[in-house]
Order: sequence, then structure tokens, then C-alpha cells
Amino acid sequence: MEIDMKKSKIKVAVIGAGFSGILAGIKLREQGIDFEIFEKASTLGGTWRDNVYPGVACDVPSHLYVYSFAPNPRWSHRYADGSQIWRYLEKTAKKYRIFEKITFDTEIASAEWQGDRWKLTTSAGKLSFAEIVITAVGRLHHPSMPNLKGLDDFRGEICHSARWDTSFDERGKSIGIIGTGSSGVQIIAALSASASRLTIFQRTPHWVLSVPNPATPFLTKMAMRLPFVAKYYYKKLQRDFAKLTAGVGSGEDALIARAARKHLKRVRDPVLRAKVTPDYTPGCKRMVASPNYHEAIQRENVEIVTDAIERIVPEGIRTVTGRTVNLDAIVLATGFQAGAFLRPMKVVGADGVTLDAIWSDLDINYKTVALPHMPNFFMINGPYSPGGTIPIIAIAEIDVKYIMKCVEHIRRNDIAMAPSMDASRNWLNGVRNRASQTVWVTGGCQSWYLGKDGVPIVNPANLEELSEDLRAIELDDFVIFRKIESDRSREYA
Ligand code: NAP
Repeated sequence: MEIDMKKSKIKVAVIGAGFSGILAGIKLREQGIDFEIFEKASTLGGTWRDNVYPGVACDVPSHLYVYSFAPNPRWSHRYADGSQIWRYLEKTAKKYRIFEKITFDTEIASAEWQGDRWKLTTSAGKLSFAEIVITAVGRLHHPSMPNLKGLDDFRGEICHSARWDTSFDERGKSIGIIGTGSSGVQIIAALSASASRLTIFQRTPHWVLSVPNPATPFLTKMAMRLPFVAKYYYKKLQRDFAKLTAGVGSGEDALIARAARKHLKRVRDPVLRAKVTPDYTPGCKRMVASPNYHEAIQRENVEIVTDAIERIVPEGIRTVTGRTVNLDAIVLATGFQAGAFLRPMKVVGADGVTLDAIWSDLDINYKTVALPHMPNFFMINGPYSPGGTIPIIAIAEIDVKYIMKCVEHIRRNDIAMAPSMDASRNWLNGVRNRASQTVWVTGGCQSWYLGKDGVPIVNPANLEELSEDLRAIELDDFVIFRKIESDRSREYA
């Protein structure tokens, strides 16, 4: 649909051009609302632009890892590699004419509420204004660097999984990798086939689900061109995913957990198997799925070191036992700063209330999509979004559907709206209480799911629960600002 400037009346600023930001653009265009997407990098893609390490793929079946309205019959395998996912996103953005609405190389440094609209300032000092802001900045964006002594002293190359140097050639090299989560496992499987030696420094083993990754049969590719087949298959995969992960959060013996225990038997050497057998409940950390991890760690050129790292030395990594492993390169698959959501952006809402003040203790928010004191400010995949139970694109679709209802309400009534602090706190308390009883807390592990106070920053809701939570706008939960010049609302509590 063309954007009708008269109907639109308002402009929406979307921050971030990954899966969520592109989705927001598609839906805004469908509703004929003017928008601009700000992207700090020079290409779109978010996670799939940033994560280009060897072996990068998605461990959610590809036919489910799509927008529900834009199936892709071309996936080469059940679990497509990252470059295919990036191309899918690029193609979809082109198809829905989103590229022309993206301003690249533009980082939003601050957003300040002006009483009737937001003033956005880029890191280059340029100003832009919009009645509504939708942030689509991703939850796992800032790499987490390990606090290891001597990291700067290392003579070889060091690469974080999320900032991969694509010119790095691993062939014939002795490589050490720190981290065995979802990223680490994919890198290990890839590098084990090309590096001369791969030494895995494992602090905690993960439960790894061994999943086959067959090529997509020709007939499936043909059938997936038919919209009704694609729709049916998407729904089927969605049901299968829900069945597989049901009970993960509650710590019940989920199907996925039983499978992970069984798959450990693929490691034939009992000593190696013991090394990679976690001592916590499956599902406590996010489950890892890989077609070839168990095979990779049984290769001759691969060793798993479970002794803690004492420090990095110029020639490699020294463990607490005094052993030094000589290395040409170190890969840090050490995850992300999950608690740095929206940062380092400065956000100042109604009456000068800052995001830093609202989030000084907890990331207080309303249903993961809105923030008290921040009128007409929305988040996709915000703090306390579900973890592990719903594929992330499906979460974004539910969020965006809700946000679009708010956008329409704002446009029709010429208002600004923000959830009240009480409604936000009530919602958050409910989620935190429920999350505190999940296996993420009771399962006996540490993970990025846990916040500073040990309570998960993810929500155990499943697809139906999240959809229900975000089905309709509950106006009683909102503070409404009428945009009348002489009567700018001071109703704010
Ligand atoms: P992660 O799950 O947080 O794993 C980080 C790894 O680094 C852990 O093994 C951790 O050990 C280790 N580590 C961190 N600091 C360390 C230190 N100082 N010394 C030794 N070991 C250290 O990070 P990730 O693998 O990047 O995955 C993060 C999330 O990204 C996943 O949970 C998932 O949501 C998403 N992801 C998804 C896919 C996909 O296919 N869909 C692929 C990649 C990532 P401990 O366990 O002992 O802390």
C-alpha cells in the first residue's frame, strides 16, 4: 500500500533493521502509515548480519524461521545457514519495498519526548522527529567479552563469535575456543573439520540435542511454492515446536530434555561423555541443537579441556593446572550482554523521566512492548520476552500486531499513550513470580536468562499465552496524553 500522508498524520520512527524492524516496516506500510527505519550499520539483517562465524545457522527449522506471511520455498536444508537467512530477509525487505524507508549508517543516540512527539538525535548530531518510536534493537546485540587476565597479551588472532573477521583463515591453525553455547557449538562443528587442532575450553557443558539436517527434497521445494501448503506446513512446524518445548520452562521432563539425555550416548568414549554431561536439569540453560556437535568433539584433532582458565598468555591459554595450550587463534563464543537492552541509547520520556531511572533496579516494562513514562514508545522483543518456547520471529509478529493496534489507536484519537507504572509493575511481578519457579532458576545452572537478582529476564509464556496477553489493548492500563497545545496532559502519575 502507498503511504497516505493525510491519513497517516503521524510518523513512526523504527530503530533497527533486523527481522523485527523490517516486520514493523511491512506492517506500517500495510496500514498506510509513514515511517522511517534507522539502522546504525550499512546493511540490514541484525543478528544475521552480525553473526557470520563459520557454521552459523539457525537451530529452529527454516520453514518456521520465516515471517508467517512470507514463506520461503528455497531453503536448502531443514536448518538453513546464516547467509540464506540473511538473503531471505533482504529479499523480503525488497519485496515489501522497505529498503527505500531505511536510513543506513545512522545510529540513534538519544530519544527525547517533546510533549507531542519524539526528538531523535543521531550519533552524528542530526535531528529527526516522530510521533511514535518502535525499537527493534534485538535482545542479544552487544557481545560479552570474558573477563580473563592477559587477553590483550595474546600474540595471535582473537575473534568474538558475533564480530567475526571473515578474512580469518582457520586452515592449518591451532585454535582455542572459549564457550560451548549455541554459537560455540556451531563454530566447533565447523572448525573441527578445517583447523589442524581445536581445543575447547569448556566451563560448563550444555545439553545438546542432536538433530539431523537433511537437504530439502526437490518435491518439498516445489510444494512449498503453493501458498496453502506453505501455510499448512508453517502451522504444523509451529505445533511440533510447541510440543517439543512444552514443559521446558516448568522443568517437567520435556520431550526435548529426554531427547538430549538420549543423544549424549552418541559420544562413545565414557570419559569424554562424562566431560560433556551437564550436572543441571535440561532446559535450565537454553537447549543447544546441532546436527554434528557430538561427531565433531570425537574427532582426533579436537580436545575438550575442562580445567578452568587461569589466564591468557602471549602464546596461548594457561589453565589452573599450569598447562599452557599453544594457540594461533582464540575464538570467544562467550555470548552477549543480555542486560544491555536499548543501551547505550539515552531515552528521556514525559516530565524528563529517563529510561535509566525507570530501569535503575529492574527493567520495568509493560508486557515487553511498552514503558511507563514513555508515551508512544514501543519495543519489539523487549525485556522479559519469552525464551526458548517460541521462535523469535513469531514473538516479533505477536508484538508488532499489538503495537499496530496501539499505533492505530493513537492515530485515530490523536493522542499519546504510555502504560501506567502500576500496570507495568503488576504485569512484571506476575511474570517474575512465574519465571522464578521455572527450571531456569531451579535447574541448578547460571545462564544469560538470569537477571542481576537471579530472577529470569525471560518469560515462560508459550505461544497461546503470549498471544492472549497481547490480544487487545487494555486501556485502563494506560495513561492517555491528549495532544492539545493548551492542555498538555499532566495526568501522569
Ligand atoms: P551463551 O549461550 O551465553 O554461551 C556463552 C558460553 O561462553 C558459555 O558456554 C559460557 O560458559 C562461556 N563463557 C562465557 N564467559 C566465559 C569465561 N569467562 N570463561 C569461560 N567460559 C565462558 O552465548 P551464545 O552461545 O552466543 O548464545 C546466546 C544465545 O544466542 C543463545 O542462548 C540463543 O538464544 C542465541 N543463539 C541462537 C542460535 C540459533 O541457532 N538459533 C545460535 C546462536 C545463538 P558458562 O555456561 O559456564 O557460563
